[in-house]
Formats: sequence, C-alpha cells, structure tokens
Amino acid sequence: MKLFSLEGRTILVTGAGSGIGQRIAVGLAEAGADVACLDLPRAAEGVAETITRITALGRRGLALAADVTSAEEIGPAVAETEARLGPLAGAVNSAGIANATAAEAMERAQWQRMIDVNLTGTFLCCQAEARAMLPRGRGAIVNIASMSGSIVNRGLLQAHYNTSKAGVIHLSRSLAMEWCARGLRVNAISPGYTATPMNSRPEVADAVRQFESETPMGRMAHVDELVGPAIFLLSDAASFVTGIDLLVDGGFVCW
Ligand code: NAP
Repeated sequence: MKLFSLEGRTILVTGAGSGIGQRIAVGLAEAGADVACLDLPRAAEGVAETITRITALGRRGLALAADVTSAEEIGPAVAETEARLGPLAGAVNSAGIANATAAEAMERAQWQRMIDVNLTGTFLCCQAEARAMLPRGRGAIVNIASMSGSIVNRGLLQAHYNTSKAGVIHLSRSLAMEWCARGLRVNAISPGYTATPMNSRPEVADAVRQFESETPMGRMAHVDELVGPAIFLLSDAASFVTGIDLLVDGGFVCW
C-alpha cells in the first residue's frame, strides 16, 4: 500500500546486527527501503546476516561498524550512508544494552555506561541524523525506548535502564518539538517484553515465564511485531504524527 511504502528511501538502523534492530532493518527493506545497518564491530556477523536478508529482497544494504557513544564515529557513518545509498530519509535508533544490579550496590561506572549507550548514544545518533535531514526539510526518526521508561518492571533491579529509557522517551518528544517546524518528525516506540538475545541474559532467563504471565496478551512480543509500528512511523501514513511514544507491549501498561 503506497501510504505505508518506503520505496526508494534510505534509512539508517542502529543495533541492526541483532534482535529488534535486525528485524526492523529487514522489515524496512520489505517495505522498499535501502538500509544502512550500524552496529558495534563485534556484531559484524549479525550485521552480515541482516545485509544478506536485505539484498535477498532486492534492496541495498550497507554495513557500518560504529559505537553509538562516539560522535566521531556516528557522523562519518551517516556521511557514508548518504555517499553509498543516497540522501537519508529516516532512521531507527535501536542500539541499547540492559543489565541488572541492586541500586544500592551499583557502581557509578555501571550506571554511567547505561546512560552513555542508551540515552547519550540515542541523542548522538539523532543529532547526526538530523544534521543530514534538516537541511532538506524532510525526514523521520524512530527511537526504540521501552515500556520500562513508563513503568517499573516488577522484580528487575534496573534503575539505570528504566531511567535511561524514560530519558529516551522525553528526548524524543523534545527533539520532535525542536525540529517539527523543519519537516523532521521524531517518535519513540516502547516495546514490552520481546523475545530477543537481550532476554536470554542469565539474570532474566528464569523470569521469562513471569514476563509472559504479567503481559495481558499472555506472551512476549515476537520481533516481527515491531516491524509494522516502525514502518508506520517512518512512512507518509504518519505524516502528522510526531512526539509520540508508541507502546507495543501486549497491553502491559494497562494492568
Ligand atoms: P539486542 O538483541 O542485544 O540488540 C541490541 C544491539 O545493539 C546489539 O547488536 C548490540 O551489540 C548493539 N549495541 C549495544 N551497544 C552498542 C553501541 N554502543 N553502539 C552500537 N551498537 C550497540 O537487544 P534488543 O532486545 O534487540 O534491543 C534493541 C532495543 O530495544 C534496545 O534499545 C532495548 O533496550 C530495546 N528494548 C528491548 C526489549 C526486549 O524485551 N528485548 C524491550 C523493550 C525495549 P552487542 O550485542 O555486540 O552488544
């Protein structure tokens, strides 16, 4: 359907070597986009798999190795995207980390790393992406936040993660307001519990059954279920949508 088509658009996805970012990157290609796939150098194998799936769809993919906490790496990655795939039309910032420690025992370095990757990294990506798109007066950014930015997950000791994601939601609103008069839309998607490598961490493995029972729909999301919301927010179907936090949580925050 034309309204939801991303035909011929160049879109950058961070965290594209794994989980939600990988599936969204492939989904954007299914909707017609050429996709630059950014992740850490150690995720090269995952990124290569993403590119293989994109090219199998007849779209172009570009592998980018960069750390979202480094403006010195993200700026050139955006420039390379434009040089190789064409003018940037949109971005999905999905790179993120998660871990758990009781707040009273948490070292400052652990707190800081979480804020650096999840919040500052998202800001630096938005900034570099906007510098490319603002002069053309057109574009859309989607930041992958989390329902943990709005609720506190029962039993998970992750004050730093929850705080970083609340920051991503409000960062998205703030940037949406700074840039809305210049044609650039910024929105967040907040997934609920989703079956990805992030939920294979030892500290959450035993909790998966609890995640499912606490979710009104009785299960975790499949990564496929994040694709439609991302396509919607990037496409012309969302031309009057900016500054929202789209919860994709199986009803979790209703309970
Ligand atoms: P994932 O499978 O671990 O994917 C995250 C990707 O981001 C990984 O490839 C990771 O690389 C990469 N990354 C980490 N730090 C980076 C950095 N500094 N620079 C560039 N890339 C970096 O996790 P996911 O579950 O798909 O999560 C994706 C996003 O969704 C995250 O922002 C997460 O907080 C959010 N989210 C996830 C869930 C869930 O239940 N899974 C729920 C709500 C929100 P490495 O693997 O090499 O570290």
